Amino acid sequence: MLLFKHPKQLHRYLASLKAEGQTIGFVPTMGALHQGHLSLIQQSRLQSQVTVCSIFVNPTQFNDPKDFEKYPITIDQDVYLLEKTGCDILLLPSVTDIYPNGTQLPHPYQLGFIESILEGEYRPGHFQGVCQVVEQLLQIVTPNHLYLGQKDYQQCMVIEKLIELMGMSNQIMLHICPTERESDGLAMSSRNRRLSPTERQKSVCIYQTLQKIKAELNTIPIPDLKAKAQKMLTEEGFLVDYIEIAHAETLKPVENFDHNTPLVGLIAAYMGETRLIDNLLLRP
Ligand code: AMP
Repeated sequence: MLLFKHPKQLHRYLASLKAEGQTIGFVPTMGALHQGHLSLIQQSRLQSQVTVCSIFVNPTQFNDPKDFEKYPITIDQDVYLLEKTGCDILLLPSVTDIYPNGTQLPHPYQLGFIESILEGEYRPGHFQGVCQVVEQLLQIVTPNHLYLGQKDYQQCMVIEKLIELMGMSNQIMLHICPTERESDGLAMSSRNRRLSPTERQKSVCIYQTLQKIKAELNTIPIPDLKAKAQKMLTEEGFLVDYIEIAHAETLKPVENFDHNTPLVGLIAAYMGETRLIDNLLLRP
């Protein structure tokens, strides 16, 4: 695996590969890698000739500075896992490499409704920061394929919108890969490392709640279902940010649906100090 620290060098190198007709698959991450990230690398390897991963803990997307400070960093292990998975190139830039003119955002991204709800509502400015870093990374890597995890459902929609705003929808094919889970169902996440053993055990309740919602969707009215889900999580010790049942393509909250409505259930909740998110497609 080749390691690049400087975006310009990587950009030049990838331009030469693209000139030879090679296709580039890209997996942006914040490191502390687990099988969820590696599944994206594996998918890229199947579809692209060259797979690039970036590890960059982006300061501008953390609305809570404590969350940024506590973000796990495991570079040696990450490099080992990427090598083992067959990643071709790792970009490991510094904050000044990504933001040579400072982290101030010159103009806000016009993301519309998608930014006003759920993660957008509970983490103000988060998606602006996500777009800021992803725009930089996409300009550096100019991938043919971009791999994102369904685990961050709303983020996938935001990045799709960003690609549209950048006028790159025809150049970049977006692939949304399934959520990798621990054997008990907990969605893999770098943040799981912060859970104490007891918290870790309780955390599976998010996935169980999503499954319960899916199982009872056709028998219980949505407001009652959400109240039941809230009770399940609270009783397990979660502090809930949101439980939402939404249209899977627009993320508009749904109270009544017909047989054609695709639905997704989304949950964000704190277990102790750790904020966890998860989602489940309820109806395709
Ligand atoms: P992160 O390092 O958390 O920014 O995540 C980098 C990429 O990995 C994002 O596209 C995430 O959606 C994806 N990802 C994170 N966790 C998982 C998971 N459990 N399964 C699949 N993809 C994931």
